[in-house]
Amino acid sequence: MPSDVFQGSRVIWMPVEEAWAPPSEAAVFCCAEMKSRLAFTCEQHADPFECPDNLVVYSEKFDEFGLIVHDGGPSYILIGFCPWCGTRLPESQRDRWFDEVEAKGFTDDNLPPEYRTGAWRRVR
Ligand SMILES: [Zn+2]
Ligand SMILES: [Zn+2]
Repeated sequence: MPSDVFQGSRVIWMPVEEAWAPPSEAAVFCCAEMKSRLAFTCEQHADPFECPDNLVVYSEKFDEFGLIVHDGGPSYILIGFCPWCGTRLPESQRDRWFDEVEAKGFTDDNLPPEYRTGAWRRVR
């Protein structure tokens, strides 16, 4: 497997204090397959990380895509390309998010709502 498929094979844990939310209307995806996989819902599992049939996850806050690691926890491996259409996926904005939050002096207590969603990336 080419090494750039996995961006450093980083396994990410979703912050536990944030409830899972599906992508908003503002999110755009490379292909119908990716979109439908991310729209996956299951009657038995409300949490996408708990469903063994669920493969991919999208963090709108960080603009990153991942393959779910079914180890019982909310973890995923970042991917650089769409597994279905091969499109290069956006670079994760995770580091930028932490840089901005730190530079502006935000903490959990005074974090503006737009920083809990993808809105912080669009308000420029
Ligand atoms: Zn795609
Ligand atoms: Zn399920």
